[in-house]
Amino acid sequence: RGGVPEAVIPFTQPGSLTRIYAITSGKGGVGKSSMTANLAVAMAKSGLRVGIVDADIYGHSIPDMLGVTQPPTRVEDMIMPPVAQGVKVISIGMFTQGNTPVVWRGPMMHRALQQFLADVFWGDLDVLLLDLPPGTGDVAISVAQLLPNSEIVVITTPQQAAAQVAERAGAMAAQTNQKVIGVIENMSFLELPDGSRMDLFGTGGGEQVASELTRILGYDIPVLAEIPIEQELREQGDAGTPLAGTDSQSPAATKIREVADSL
Ligand code: ADP
Repeated sequence: RGGVPEAVIPFTQPGSLTRIYAITSGKGGVGKSSMTANLAVAMAKSGLRVGIVDADIYGHSIPDMLGVTQPPTRVEDMIMPPVAQGVKVISIGMFTQGNTPVVWRGPMMHRALQQFLADVFWGDLDVLLLDLPPGTGDVAISVAQLLPNSEIVVITTPQQAAAQVAERAGAMAAQTNQKVIGVIENMSFLELPDGSRMDLFGTGGGEQVASELTRILGYDIPVLAEIPIEQELREQGDAGTPLAGTDSQSPAATKIREVADSL
């Protein structure tokens, strides 16, 4: 590259104490961004310094879910990320025009990611979360290259079709040498007013992904939580104040906080 040194990514330097979690899924719509946003605010609420890189080129819904209203600013060579609910946020959507879809090629996205990691003023973070696009595409490979020390959390629903594609996304870790630390099964069930459970998306997807990845990767990969469907979780996401950061004691909020504490 013409002898120009690559920008230094602070999170990969020796002595960096930031834990890095790449949140992935096989397909869209399973609640990957919702889980990322909720985990982030839950962690921030318990006093951790948290940042999110929203690298979901198809979705980039993290800023809305966190109620980010300000664009990033520039101070000399650094990009200052907006802070919302105590979380520093940088999103691919902040660098595109309006609502136009992002049709960036892999190398462009790689450079954007590199900038997000090296040129954004993150300060000392305890945790960095990356909201990846669904699947096993270029961005996931770039993250593995740029942040070889990142660990993977797989989001799936109970549905068999979702579980199969989630397995592929997780199994990519075998090639990239990243560690998969667990599976979150989202939209696990709906609790009806009489207390009974309705399995809207079937059952078993989370267990299936966890046991299959355990077999493929050769170490124990747990199901971290089964998060129910809750209208409030969707509404709070739409309002820009994720449920796990509110005072809600609902089963979903409680379980997400438990996962946040365990990471
Ligand atoms: P992804 O990032 O996987 O594409 P999103 O996080 O955008 O998925 O979620 C898709 C939709 O489902 C959003 O409208 C979100 O509010 C909703 N949603 C996600 N998880 C839940 C849940 N546990 N209960 C209710 N709605 C949910």
